[in-house]
Amino acid sequence: MDRRDNSGFPRQQSLLRAPEVCIYCGAPADTRDHVPPKLLLEEPLPPNLLTVPACWKCNNGCSDDERYVRDALHLVGFGEISREKTAPGGVVARSLEHSPLLGQKMNQAHVAGEDGRILFQPALDRFSRIMVKIGAGLWFGLHHRCVTASAFKCETVQHTHCISTWLVDVASFPGQSSGWPEVGSQELRRAAEAWPNQRDHRRLREWTKVQACVFEYLFVPKSPRQDGLFCVMNLYDTVWGLVSCPPPPPETRTRNRRR
Ligand SMILES: [Zn+2]
Repeated sequence: MDRRDNSGFPRQQSLLRAPEVCIYCGAPADTRDHVPPKLLLEEPLPPNLLTVPACWKCNNGCSDDERYVRDALHLVGFGEISREKTAPGGVVARSLEHSPLLGQKMNQAHVAGEDGRILFQPALDRFSRIMVKIGAGLWFGLHHRCVTASAFKCETVQHTHCISTWLVDVASFPGQSSGWPEVGSQELRRAAEAWPNQRDHRRLREWTKVQACVFEYLFVPKSPRQDGLFCVMNLYDTVWGLVSCPPPPPETRTRNRRR
């Protein structure tokens, strides 16, 4: 018998606190998935890195996207880590050498903006998929409840050079910008120089630092009128993602209030 409730999970399992079903699709979980993926972190990995139950397909099905996201974000990253990874012999440089197709895709990501500037416009759908997966994993880590991944939606993925003071009002986060600064461009260098000022805005709220300046995230309520949370993620001070998440389950809300 496979009766399912509204969450898409078998009725009985959905009542368990931490069901051993894949948190992304509801199939039986036979692996543990790292959240965020190891590819988007630095060695040594944090000792208490979150893992969540996942089926083999969901655990491994995004590895191409993860690699794409890692390579693209370091190409337009301006930190020391990104410079090392993209320099000859670095992990991104080697990845692009070994996969000419991926290298070709990065080259094709250069587009002309309306004002004539050359911009870097990576495949944002690949970023979105990874952001949704991470957001769902972090949400599960917080609430130990499964809801299907379709309850999560990536609202936007931005290069940090577009970010100004939006953290004050996360709901007014701007839509997709026309593009990211071109790899190796003056604009990217200027963004790097401006970044220390931008970083000050992050002090406004308490971020959970999985690894400082590598992967940090924050859950914020959407607004008094909207039920739900936003998960804001900062990858390498270079890319920001905003994922719309369901509200916390009622039990967690009560427990949090008592604290
Ligand atoms: Zn799955």
